[in-house]
Amino acid sequence: MTQTRAYGATSASQPLAPLSIERREPGPHDVKIDILYCGVCHSDLHTARNEWQNTLYPSVPGHEIVGTVSAVGAKVTKFKPGDTVGVGCMVDSCQHCASCADGEEQYCENGFTGTYNGPMFGGENTWGGYSESVVVSEKFVLNIAHKADQLAAVAPLLCAGITTYSPLRHWNVGPGKKVGIVGLGGLGHMGVKLAHAMGAHVVLFTTSPGKQDDAKRLGADEVVVSKDQAQMAQHTGSFDFILSTVAASHNLDPFLALLKRDGTLCLVGAPEHPHPSPTVFNLILKRRQLAGSLIGGIRETQEMLDFCAKHGIVSDIEMIAMKDINGAYERMLKGDVKYRFVIDMATLKQEAKAA
Ligand code: NAP
Ligand code: ZN
Repeated sequence: MTQTRAYGATSASQPLAPLSIERREPGPHDVKIDILYCGVCHSDLHTARNEWQNTLYPSVPGHEIVGTVSAVGAKVTKFKPGDTVGVGCMVDSCQHCASCADGEEQYCENGFTGTYNGPMFGGENTWGGYSESVVVSEKFVLNIAHKADQLAAVAPLLCAGITTYSPLRHWNVGPGKKVGIVGLGGLGHMGVKLAHAMGAHVVLFTTSPGKQDDAKRLGADEVVVSKDQAQMAQHTGSFDFILSTVAASHNLDPFLALLKRDGTLCLVGAPEHPHPSPTVFNLILKRRQLAGSLIGGIRETQEMLDFCAKHGIVSDIEMIAMKDINGAYERMLKGDVKYRFVIDMATLKQEAKAA
């Protein structure tokens, strides 16, 4: 075991603070990664504050990791020291159920192991990317083809990117499709960029009128302020697909009403409190579907990274020092980030040196 510096929460009511965790020595199939950058996902905040009531403490969040390989086990074939790699939301899964066989490890029937907070249903804890290094089985390590000066902005692709890419692909978003993205935060701004790159007509729904110009810059063809009923009504019955990334409980009916016959509203936002139940008639009268989607499998995550490298897509980021994480959480709650905080992990080492 190696003592590793990290930042984490010891209870739901405590701010994140420096702590020391133990990482295993790399086994034959493991890759050890020095973490360069880690994105800040709203799921990190939900978890640190136990909003999903399943947090194992101490909790070290972070599942948008980019780093450099520092060591590999004897049987590792895909990576060597010095490689630039990524780790997303998963570090293991059973590898023998039907979902794992299909490369959809996020739906592992025996429960995948999260990069942090361990198995969903009890068992050992795992610690995420708010730390100086991590040891991960090579099956769950991704190859990064972006340029060296883009790496900080690549980190958010590992969760925000794949969580929006996967449903956009699953529901065949592309040319000729009218697609809505709800919420312009970390996930939402990636959803806009990706749906635009896939060739769809993209409409961004926001509660923040001040984000309208940005949304267009990011690739939205139209922007709708979702609190404005007149603007919403102009789009009734016109969408093939809408992806909601909203991190809080809200009324789904105004969005269901915008779908065409057979259209789908897919939820990826995972708020602390449930949404009010939608009106059944909004579903049955047009055979509409209400769906959900969870991150994406490892094969699809690599596909997404390669798609982004090819199309020059990265996240819009604001870099922070590790010690600024608690303030960043407060700003994320206010929607005050364009559009993803990324922690420069060198600041954790500097902090330790100065102490
Ligand atoms: P985020 O950066 O905080 O963005 C959420 C956006 O939702 C906000 O920017 C805001 O956009 C909109 N929003 C509208 N009303 C809101 C309210 N009352 N409170 C908060 N936000 C509101 O969060 P994120 O990192 O993109 O994550 C979004 C959600 O997805 C979180 O619940 C997260 O846990 C979840 N998530 C799910 C998966 C999955 O696999 N399904 C993966 C990662 C994250 P506007 O200002 O434009 O309205
Ligand atoms: Zn996430």
